[in-house]
Amino acid sequence: MTKLTINDLDPRGKRVFIRVDFNVPLKDGVVTDDTRIRETLPTLRLAIEKGGRLVLASHLGRPKGGPDPKYSLRPAAKKLEELLGKPIAFALDCVGPGAEGQSKALRDGEVLVLENVRFHPDEEKNDEAFSKQLAALCDGVFVCDAFGSAHRAHASVVGITRFVHQAAAGLLMEKELAYLGKALTNPARPFVAILGGAKVSDKIEVVENLMKIADAMLIGGGMAYTFLKADGQPIGKSLVENDKLDLARRLREEAQKEKFALLLPVDHVVGAEFKADTATQTVSVSATPDGWMGLDIGPKSIEAYRQKIASAKTIVWNGPMGVFEMPAFTKGTVEIAKAVAAATSAGATSIVGGGDSVAAVHRSGLANKISHISTGGGASLEFLAGRKLPGVEALTNK
Ligand code: AMP
Repeated sequence: MTKLTINDLDPRGKRVFIRVDFNVPLKDGVVTDDTRIRETLPTLRLAIEKGGRLVLASHLGRPKGGPDPKYSLRPAAKKLEELLGKPIAFALDCVGPGAEGQSKALRDGEVLVLENVRFHPDEEKNDEAFSKQLAALCDGVFVCDAFGSAHRAHASVVGITRFVHQAAAGLLMEKELAYLGKALTNPARPFVAILGGAKVSDKIEVVENLMKIADAMLIGGGMAYTFLKADGQPIGKSLVENDKLDLARRLREEAQKEKFALLLPVDHVVGAEFKADTATQTVSVSATPDGWMGLDIGPKSIEAYRQKIASAKTIVWNGPMGVFEMPAFTKGTVEIAKAVAAATSAGATSIVGGGDSVAAVHRSGLANKISHISTGGGASLEFLAGRKLPGVEALTNK
């Protein structure tokens, strides 16, 4: 079902409620990484160009049940002012007579940023009355550009859509759905999925869903050890989820039966302890010494994964291959980032999601060599798991 997008709207002279994702990191009241604000600029510029009167809402952090200056969106509004190069109004509360008055005072092309929607517990409850109050700040037009929140049925994402005439996707939302949607429904093949990170339990549904769609899956990071243990390998003190061993075993059997290329590390860098300056060894997974823990994939695994990646035409990557925050265990993740970048240069479409893999790509200076860096870690995982995102479902059908 195709959804209405901002391109279908004619917001001239109307107040448009735009849900953005300004959940940015702050330090001493200053935005330390403005990527999320920049990502939504095309949507905001388009809405301004079309003569809309913009009312922007977002959450920031996890305030506990009420206003907390630590999570104010004011620094984000200030940053936006810099980026757009025009003055921006700020409402001290995201609902109520103050915000309503300020929204009504807007002229075409002007922007009002509302205070953190999570200062009201009703936001996360998707409360009907609160949703209605939010909708009262616009003239029946809602745009959602907060892909990173689309997996949450909250008032400013879902509830509000019941009280507007048009609920459309912003350009960022549209781009995210286009890349991820194509990977799931009509990928150029071979399609190689790369999954890493700490836990199998976080990604099990993604593994199950992508096994049905992809041509190969490369597993690294802490989540590999539950699979390796299920295979009967010694894993020492590596991260493991014992309650997921049966599931891992079943997935391995299924992959074998379907001749699906489910690749696990064949060697790894093990540490004596979980700390940056610990003693390390590089060993085959069958030779993991007792009491040591696997903290990065090894050179033979990197090579095997690189070959698969080099042959891919679609690549989806979520999660680091090791504890890449510690220099001794960064290599696997960086080499995979390089391989994904090289395959992209050779014509593959690559999608990287999840805070850590995105950070690794940025840190390796390869971000501009990736086709699409997803802004929503949780939302992209749910999408890849085959789940419908409530924030997308709620948008108006074309
Ligand atoms: P996730 O949020 O699930 O993508 O996991 C990311 C975290 O997994 C990072 O902080 C990594 O340090 C951690 N991680 C990756 N590989 C391992 C490993 N082999 N053992 C323990 N933690 C790991």
